[in-house]
Amino acid sequence: MNVLVINAGSSSLKYQLIQVETHTVLARGICERVGSDDAFHKHGLDDDEVVIDAPIKDHSEAIAMVLEALTSGPHAAISSLDDIDAIGHRVVQGGKYFDSSVLIDEEVIARIDELAELAPLHNKAALMGIEACQKLMAGKPMAAVFDTSFFQTIQPHAYMYPIPYELYEKYAIRKYGAHGTSHRYIAERAAQFVDEPLEDLKIITCHLGNGCSISAIDHGVAVDTSMGLTPLDGLMMGTRSGAIDPAIVPFLMDHEGLSTDEVNDLLNKKSGLLGISGISNDLRSVRTASEEGDERAQLAYEMYSHSVKKYIGQYIAVMGGVDVIVLTAGVGENCDKMRRMIFTGLQSLGIELDIERNKGRGGEREISTDESIVQILIIPTNEEYMIARDTFELVHDAE
Ligand code: AMP
Repeated sequence: MNVLVINAGSSSLKYQLIQVETHTVLARGICERVGSDDAFHKHGLDDDEVVIDAPIKDHSEAIAMVLEALTSGPHAAISSLDDIDAIGHRVVQGGKYFDSSVLIDEEVIARIDELAELAPLHNKAALMGIEACQKLMAGKPMAAVFDTSFFQTIQPHAYMYPIPYELYEKYAIRKYGAHGTSHRYIAERAAQFVDEPLEDLKIITCHLGNGCSISAIDHGVAVDTSMGLTPLDGLMMGTRSGAIDPAIVPFLMDHEGLSTDEVNDLLNKKSGLLGISGISNDLRSVRTASEEGDERAQLAYEMYSHSVKKYIGQYIAVMGGVDVIVLTAGVGENCDKMRRMIFTGLQSLGIELDIERNKGRGGEREISTDESIVQILIIPTNEEYMIARDTFELVHDAE
C-alpha cells in the first residue's frame, strides 16, 4: 500500500510517499513559505532533488503542486493518483478525544477544529491539508495521526497542573505532550534493538532536536513526558525556554511592558540556546563558538545538558529505574559532545557511556559500555513511517 504522508505546518507542507510493506520511501519533499510569493517546492530523493521557485497561495495549491510532481515530469514517483492508496496526516493536538490514530470523517474534522484552541497554528494547518486532499483526491481514505495520543495513558497525577481545578474543567488545561509519534517509534525500535518485549522494559526516550522532549515509558506505557499543555514546557530547546518559574511571565510583562503575544514570542522564539548564547538556535554554531572560548555559548551547552540530565533523573524516580535510554533527532543523533555532557556523572545510577562508541556515526547503535547496567541507544526517528504504518493498519482493518 502506498501512503502519502502529509505534515502541514503553518507555512510549510512536508510530505513523503511511502510503500508501507517494503518500508520504501518513493518520494519526499517540502513546500516552504506557503502563502507567500517567494515560496518554493523541493521534491525528490536525496541526491536527485529539484527545487521549484513559485508563489504558493495556500495549502491547497501546495498539495496540487505536490501531486503534480509525484505523477509527472522527470522526478515522478508514480504514474497516476490511483497509485496513492491512502493519506496519513500528522495532527499536533488530539486533546483528550484521541488516544490513537483514526480514520478521518466529518466528526474527526470537527474535533480537530475544536482543539485548535490548544494548538492554533498547527491544527488549523492540518485542517487545511485535510481539506485540500479531500478536494483533490475525493474518496481516498485518510487517517489522522496525533502527536498527543501516545501520551493519553499518562495518569491524572502526572498530567494535571496544580492550579484551581475549575480551570481544568473550563479550559481542559493539562499536560498533553508532543512528539508522541517519535517517542512511540524509538521506544518500539529500542525494544527490538535490545531484543526484549517493550512490555518488559523501562525506557526513557529523549527527542533532542530544535524542539526537545523526553518521556518515561514504563512497560510500553507512557507515564510522563516533558512537554505540557503546549510544546513550550520541559527541556531547554533551540529557541524555546522550556520550563521556567511561571512568575517570570508577569514580571516581564510588568517590567518590560510586554503584551501576551510578545511574552509568548520571547519564550518560544528568542529563548533557549539562541537566547542564552546570543549566537544561534543551531547547536553546531553554539558548539563552534564554545570551542573558541565564547562563555555564553559554553553556558548554553551546560544549561542544555543539565536540563536533560535532570529529567533523566526525574524519570528514573518516576519508574523506579530504567533499562534503556534512547536518544534521537538532530542533537541526540549527532552531537557526541552534548551526549557526553548529559551522561557524565551518572555511573552511580548504572549508566555508563562508552566514549569511543559515542564518537561513532551511523544509524541505530548502542553507545553505552558493555558493563553499563542501563543501555544507551541512538535510534534515528521516523515519524513519517509511523504515520504511514498507522494509516495502513486503519485502512486495512476497515476493509
Ligand atoms: P532537528 O530538529 O531534529 O532537525 O534537529 C536540529 C538540531 O540538531 C539543530 O540544533 C542542529 O544544530 C542539531 N544538529 C544537527 N547535526 C548536528 C551535529 N552534527 N552536531 C551538533 N548538533 C547538530
